[in-house]
Amino acid sequence: MKAYAVEPPAESYLDIVGSDEKFPVRRIYCIGKNYLAHIIEMNADERDPPVVFMKPRDALVRNGGEIPYPVFTKNLHYECELVVALKSGGYNIPEFEASKHIFGYAVGLDMTRRDHQAGALANGLPWEVTKAFDHSAPVGPVTSIEEIGIVNSGHMSLKVNGETRQSADISMLIWKIDEIIAKLSEQYELRPGDIIMTGTPAGVGAVTQGDVLDCSVDGLRPMQVRIGDRAA
Ligand code: MN
Repeated sequence: MKAYAVEPPAESYLDIVGSDEKFPVRRIYCIGKNYLAHIIEMNADERDPPVVFMKPRDALVRNGGEIPYPVFTKNLHYECELVVALKSGGYNIPEFEASKHIFGYAVGLDMTRRDHQAGALANGLPWEVTKAFDHSAPVGPVTSIEEIGIVNSGHMSLKVNGETRQSADISMLIWKIDEIIAKLSEQYELRPGDIIMTGTPAGVGAVTQGDVLDCSVDGLRPMQVRIGDRAA
């Protein structure tokens, strides 16, 4: 048993639907600009390649629940996304083999400090401030590919206080899941435990203390997130 000099970080994992086993999370990759209507609402160029960024794994909020309104923002946005969980990986995975590496799927939220995004972009600064903050990655339980099969379509919806704000179909992804896995593996060695947030459709918006977000994708376990009091 190794003795650490300070308290080691908590484990990061997701629940698995219908199993007592847990899905350990190694990295949280995120794809930006992957639904046309969202690119248009963000005034971005739809011909740009999708953006790749990461969130720290301790930003994960397993199964949602209450998250504090984050510090350092006055414009907290939700982005409902399909999350893909990998059971294996490697470099340079060909598209036709990509689905062999998928363990399963979950519903997730890419919470965003929207007020810092434009400044980061305009000044060529990293995206951590806008995307990689504490509690910024609520993710529901993983449904295995054995249960649901390969997911390339299915309705996604996000409601705020019962009112639908995002409604789209997974089939509208610009970069499909197999292409995302292939592209990511050109840049990084993908590993078991990696999860990928695949991008959000149109309808993003701000939330505030007390708001309740209901996120769902057909066939997956839905997730509810409540925005609590301001952190710290
Ligand atoms: Mn996103």
